[in-house]
Amino acid sequence: MIRRVLRVFLASLLSGTAGAAPLSVPGIITHGSRAAPSVALTFDADMTPGMQRALKSSKVLSYDNVAVRQILRLTRTPATFFFTGMWAETYPQSARDIAHDPLFEVEDHSYDHPGFAQPCYGLANITDRDKAANVLRSQLAVARITGRTPRYFRFPGGCASLEDVQLVQHLGLTTVHWDVISGDAGQPDAQVIVRTVLRDTRNGSIIVMHSHGGRAPSTALALPAIIAGLKARGFTFVTVEQLLTAR
Ligand SMILES: [Zn+2]
Repeated sequence: MIRRVLRVFLASLLSGTAGAAPLSVPGIITHGSRAAPSVALTFDADMTPGMQRALKSSKVLSYDNVAVRQILRLTRTPATFFFTGMWAETYPQSARDIAHDPLFEVEDHSYDHPGFAQPCYGLANITDRDKAANVLRSQLAVARITGRTPRYFRFPGGCASLEDVQLVQHLGLTTVHWDVISGDAGQPDAQVIVRTVLRDTRNGSIIVMHSHGGRAPSTALALPAIIAGLKARGFTFVTVEQLLTAR
């Protein structure tokens, strides 16, 4: 598995990703079919060097919001987690626990959450030459720790240039963002998150939330009402893979 990721990566280097002649330009997927009432809950697990410092100094106790997956399991709700490689390395047991649950799918959210296209909400800069290595490092970390090799990639902050999306495609990944921003980042009021999601979700929606707690403190508080509310509106929950491969 790791060998396969490496092969794809080396092939992409040989073919020259940055500045290569435009092939078919891949789009960024933001939703599935609007014809069926399936929706995907997605949870980004961010980790940056700054977040690691906050853990080490005990300024923050944990960036693993265990309650999120407890609620998903209690309600038998499928979901997709986008791991940063650094998060999986910080919480290997949790990463495995999520990856090995058939309810859940595990995908890639970069190694340490830089902003691939700037400006990007204050996220750290990354040079063009470091981008492929960052994505590959995350792929390898997630594969090594969980035994699952991600197929989908989500850019931190959703910030990406056309070249970045092509780079990720060269590495064998499809870019998946969202069409519903839950707004759980920086929002202490769970009711605001619930109202936003129930208002904006449509057939085929991909809903972005966060499973690292910290700056997204009320995700788990909002989750039961989001799940119940969307079910009451006739929506069915699926993973991103199921949403995008549904016929
Ligand atoms: Zn993120």
